[in-house]
Amino acid sequence: MRAFESCCHRLLDRQKIKTPPKAELSTARTKDCPAPPYATLEFVIPRPLEENRGIDYNYGMYKQVPCASGCGRGAVSGSTLCALHSADQAADARRIALAVQAGKAAFDENAAGLKFEGIDFSGVDFKESNFSTCYFFQCLFPKAKFDSCFFDFAVFSACDFSGSNIQFSSFSGADIEDCSFENSELSHVNFCGTIIQDCTFNGSNLYNSRFIMSEMKDSDFEDCNLKRVNFTMSKRENINFKLSNTAEAIFAMRDDQ
Ligand SMILES: [Zn+2]
Repeated sequence: MRAFESCCHRLLDRQKIKTPPKAELSTARTKDCPAPPYATLEFVIPRPLEENRGIDYNYGMYKQVPCASGCGRGAVSGSTLCALHSADQAADARRIALAVQAGKAAFDENAAGLKFEGIDFSGVDFKESNFSTCYFFQCLFPKAKFDSCFFDFAVFSACDFSGSNIQFSSFSGADIEDCSFENSELSHVNFCGTIIQDCTFNGSNLYNSRFIMSEMKDSDFEDCNLKRVNFTMSKRENINFKLSNTAEAIFAMRDDQ
């Protein structure tokens, strides 16, 4: 059993991910489970975020400017502050979305912790950008290209990634619900620890991607390339692998077999 399954935030996140009640954050908190770092944000994502796991999202590959508050996070692109300390997160998200749409590209962007709703990112070229802990609702990414981008612990709801190219990117710990990744290039992608529900990956190449410790439910992987895809320690309920090469995927560690 995963250590964080007993964490109160984990339980909250699964039950209330769309509209997490702030009241429950204080009353349901358990011992040894630190407060979520985004508790004061306009939108609350009660996931085991970076502070809970000691993860530093200032990835070395990015030229991030430190937040002027001295919190240690990277400042949002075009700002001197991180999303947590921003006075107007919606304005930050709007500025970045408009710039990305205008240039059809995002390179070295840091948007970590921001919320994007109803944004059309079709065909955008995302490269080496950080969207960790972001919230995406009804956003369009068809035929977008992602290269070495981070979406760790992000939340995706009703988003369309069909026909996209998402190689070498990370979605670890993300919640992905009601999203389409059909006919996409998804090789070498990190989906470890994700919660995936009501999604479709039909017709996609998932070569060497990893779903280790993921919880997957009511989703389709029809006619996919699953060679070297690692599903070890994942929970799978009503997953359709029809016409996919499951024999070449990895479902268990050698000791478990
Ligand atoms: Zn800050």
